[in-house]
Amino acid sequence: MISDFCDNLTESPIGIYVHVPFCAFRCAYCAFYKAVPSRATIESYIKTLKVEWDLRYRGESVGTIFWGGGTPSILSAKQLEDMRHIFPDEMPFLKEWTVECSPLTITKDRLAAMRDIGVTRISIGVETFDEKLLKTLNRRQTLWQTLEAYELARNFSFDVNLDLMFAVPGQRLRQWEMDLRQAVALRPEHLSTYCLTMEEETAFAARHKDKIPPAERGWERFHGLAGETLTKAGYQHYEVSNFAQPGKQCLHNVRIWQMNDWLGIGPAAASQYNGRRFKNISDLNRWMCGILAGAACEEDICAVDANLLVQDAIIFGLRTRTGIHLPESMNNRNMDACLRLFKFWCEQGLMECKKSVYYPTERGLLLADALAVEILGTFDNPVRPKV
Ligand code: SF4
Repeated sequence: MISDFCDNLTESPIGIYVHVPFCAFRCAYCAFYKAVPSRATIESYIKTLKVEWDLRYRGESVGTIFWGGGTPSILSAKQLEDMRHIFPDEMPFLKEWTVECSPLTITKDRLAAMRDIGVTRISIGVETFDEKLLKTLNRRQTLWQTLEAYELARNFSFDVNLDLMFAVPGQRLRQWEMDLRQAVALRPEHLSTYCLTMEEETAFAARHKDKIPPAERGWERFHGLAGETLTKAGYQHYEVSNFAQPGKQCLHNVRIWQMNDWLGIGPAAASQYNGRRFKNISDLNRWMCGILAGAACEEDICAVDANLLVQDAIIFGLRTRTGIHLPESMNNRNMDACLRLFKFWCEQGLMECKKSVYYPTERGLLLADALAVEILGTFDNPVRPKV
C-alpha cells in the first residue's frame, strides 16, 4: 500500500530495466523497428551498457531485473552471457529476472544460457493464436511455432507470461474468446492482455484505422471478456492488463507501480532513480556515442518528491488490486478531495473499502483511466517541477 512504500523507499532493493532495441523484423503496427543488427553493433551496444551501468549505478541491492525491447531474445546465447557481466557477481536480494522473447527466437541454446545466468521468468509475445490475425499484424510466427516455443520454455522450468493483444483490425469477440481459452489451456503463470495501440506514423494505422472498434464500444467488451474468462479460470486480475496465478504477479512491475526506484539502462530506457525521473535518448547511435564519451544522454528530467510519489501511487493504485491507503502526510485538501471521490465511487460499485484501504472493483479497473483523470483534477499541486 502507498503508505508502506513511502516509508521504505530508501531501503527497498531497486529494479533494473535494460532496453534491448533490436528486432528481427518489423511488426506492421509498430513504429519502433530497427534494422536487424550486425554482430558488431550488438557487441558495441553491450559494451556501452556496461559503461552506462558503471556511470549510473550507486551500489544498491538489486531486487528485480527486466530485459525488454525490442526483442532481447534476438541476442545469441553468448551475447546473453556477456550481458550478465554488466551486473554485480552477487545479487543476494534478487527475486525475479524476466526476459521478453518472441516465439521465433526461443531456442534451446538461448534458454539454457538464460537459465545459467539466473533468469527466472520468460515473457512471450504471442499476441494472438489466430493465424489470420497474425498475418494482419505481420507477425511471422505460426500457431505451431508459438506452441513449440512455449513447450520449450516449460522444459526449462521458467515461469512464463504470455502477451495477448485485442482490438486487432478485423478481430471478432469470438476470436478473442478463443485466444483467451487457448491461453488458459496452456496454464502459464501469468497473462498480459493489451489493447492494440495504433501508432499514427505507421502505414498499418493508415490502412486500418476505420476497422478498429471505437473505444466506447469495442474496448470495454474485449477487456471485460478477458476479466471474466481469466478470473473464472483461477487467475487473479491484479492490474488492469495483468492476470496471474496466486503468488505469480510480475514483481518488477508491481514494485514500479508502488513507486519503488528502478534504474533503466539502454537507449529509450526510463528511470526513477536517486531523486529523479528521466529517460535515455531513444537513438541507438547517439546513445552509444554519448555514453562512451561520458555524457548522461537523458531527457524528460523531473525531480521526484514525496508529493509526486503519493499522487502517482494513487493513480497507479486505481489500476491495481493492491489497495490505496491514503498516507497521513498528504495535505488536508487533497486528502478530503480523494476521500470524497473514493466514497462516491464505493457507492457506484467502482471501489470497495476494507479497514480504510480502498480497492478498485472489477468494474472500477475497467474505468481506471477515467477515474485517474477525475482524481488528478482534484489535486492541489499536480505540477511536476523540472530539475
Ligand atoms: S512489436 Fe515488438 S517485436 Fe514487433 S517490431 Fe515492435 S518492438 Fe519489435
